[in-house]
Amino acid sequence: MLDTALLGVLLTAIAIGYGLGYRQATRRRQQHPSSAPTSQVLSRDYFVGLNYLLNEQPDEAINTFINVLAVNSDTVDTHIALGKLFRARGEADKAVSIHQNLLARPELPQHTNEQIQLELARDFMALGVHDRAQRLLNTLLENSTDDNHRYAAKQLLIDLLEREKAWRDALEVIQPILKQRPAMRRPAAHWLCELALEEISEASRALAKRHLKKALQLDENCVRATLLLADLEMDNGHYGRAIERLDCIVHQETTHIPTMLPALKRAYLRQDDEAGYEAHLFRLLEQAPYTSIIIALGELVHQRDGVDKAITLVGERLRAVPSLGGLDYLIDLYIESQRQSGKEAPDTRLLLLKHHTDALLLNRTRHRCQRCGLASDALQWQCPSCRYWGTIKPIIGVEGE
Ligand SMILES: [Zn+2]
Repeated sequence: MLDTALLGVLLTAIAIGYGLGYRQATRRRQQHPSSAPTSQVLSRDYFVGLNYLLNEQPDEAINTFINVLAVNSDTVDTHIALGKLFRARGEADKAVSIHQNLLARPELPQHTNEQIQLELARDFMALGVHDRAQRLLNTLLENSTDDNHRYAAKQLLIDLLEREKAWRDALEVIQPILKQRPAMRRPAAHWLCELALEEISEASRALAKRHLKKALQLDENCVRATLLLADLEMDNGHYGRAIERLDCIVHQETTHIPTMLPALKRAYLRQDDEAGYEAHLFRLLEQAPYTSIIIALGELVHQRDGVDKAITLVGERLRAVPSLGGLDYLIDLYIESQRQSGKEAPDTRLLLLKHHTDALLLNRTRHRCQRCGLASDALQWQCPSCRYWGTIKPIIGVEGE
């Protein structure tokens, strides 16, 4: 079946073609009254195209319309729309030939020409031919005086550079427009984090730190930059400073507290400060009663004071904020308690409950993109679906934290 958008564009093509043909034929009839009737002058090709369409042969229909629909100011939008539809259908090579065919017409106005160049750049990007797309966009940025076209070209160029992981080049493109487009500060901060990671892998920690501080200047709520800075402090043995950094995350983005817990544990335990870790966890619990914090406290108490003390603590805390993950952990503690009390095997009812929570947790998603809703088990800083940065966050609620 033809999709609705394609059908719409093709019907528009027929209407425009028919209308133009009718106008030309009428004009001819007025100039030469003895010529053939209007209906005979109209191109047969439109009816051939229509026939293909009715027989659900879209490719043949499209080719016929492209061939007979002359490129001029009345029809150029329809040609562009056809190209876009080909690209959306995954046939970017056909979109390229339509848009290149349009660009070959010197009579088109500059504004339209630039519009087509943007479409052609999108086609090349869809085909993965990034160098050709980049050349087109750079030319457009050099020559265009239209602010909208220049902004669209920059957006495409940024998208392209991101895909190429050319973070420095992307930052160069974005720098002059950060004031007018504050929303671009967040992706720019993440590119600096990417650069910092590259520097860390090459043992240039000082440079990495500089990138991360700049990232926080661009976006003071960049949790990722704070986490990386805390890691760098820990690598240098500055555990106190690392803890101070991690504490900032509570104010930057409360939902990311579970993300920073492993680093917090590392920072306290590397300096043998278990009491400090426990106090910090209790403090966090007052600010955000998340399951991860309750479980971290439960593990601490379990190791130090035994399983029954851990059961009391976790049970009490979960009463206020029940969650599936918390219940599963509590069942683990009960099973452990029965083992320790000398029972040969744990209670079968407990094992049955554990079986159910395990099955439910297996299908649980830990993170979700706040923009497009993509579910993700691991935390990813750039959403692979909508390509936004920093929108994937831990899920809060009964099924999550
Ligand atoms: Zn997304």
